[in-house]
Amino acid sequence: MCYQVIERYSVCKCLYYKHAIDQCRAAGQHGHQVQEKTVLVGYACSSHSSHRPEALPGTGVLPDSGYGSGAYPAQR
Ligand SMILES: [Zn+2]
Ligand SMILES: [Zn+2]
Repeated sequence: MCYQVIERYSVCKCLYYKHAIDQCRAAGQHGHQVQEKTVLVGYACSSHSSHRPEALPGTGVLPDSGYGSGAYPAQR
C-alpha cells in the first residue's frame, strides 16, 4: 500500500503541505489505492489565524506632532 502524508492545520483544517506519494511495488496496478495519512500541525494558517492586535483609538493621531506648525516646509 502506498502512503501519502498530508499535513493540515489542526485549527482550520486547511492544507499545510502535501508530501510526495511513497510508492510501494504494487503502485499502478488495478484497484491499487493510495492511503492518505493526515498529520495535523498545531496551529492555524495565515489566513485563519487572527492574531492581529486591535488598533487602539487615538494612537497614530497625535494632537500636535509638529506637522503644520511650521516645522514641515509647505513649499520649496
Ligand atoms: Zn501501494
Ligand atoms: Zn486556514
